[in-house]
Amino acid sequence: MNIAFIAHDRKKDEMVNFVIAYEHVFQGHSLYSTGTTGARIMEQTKLNIHRFMSGPLGGDQQIGALVAQNEMDLIIFLRDPLMAQPHEPDIIALLRLCDVQGIPVATNVATGELLVRALQRGDFAWRELVHKYKPGEA
Ligand code: PGA
Repeated sequence: MNIAFIAHDRKKDEMVNFVIAYEHVFQGHSLYSTGTTGARIMEQTKLNIHRFMSGPLGGDQQIGALVAQNEMDLIIFLRDPLMAQPHEPDIIALLRLCDVQGIPVATNVATGELLVRALQRGDFAWRELVHKYKPGEA
């Protein structure tokens, strides 16, 4: 599965702890992140993550481009609900695209845990069919 991590600054510690807790589930999947979030996770785990640009510089939009192509399977996006973000339009756009494509997206750790347990249980197998039968592809 293609999984993306994004965490706003005051949520990065929470994200790192979350990924450490479920490192055994995430390994073996293709992992993506915005720039700083990915750097922080890789510092503290053995996971290899493809890092896009930092969120405020366009990283959310780069992940959004994969979502638009229905290539992202799961997004853990720990937003800071108490701090205005300069790239708010990009955040809204990413969440909108997730709803367009029906991509599971968690915006807090409680939902993130439920989705990761579902991933572990094999509940995301339907996404393999999405990849296999994507329009225009064999
Ligand atoms: P960052 O981007 O991981 O590069 O900090 C996340 C964000 O703030 O959107």
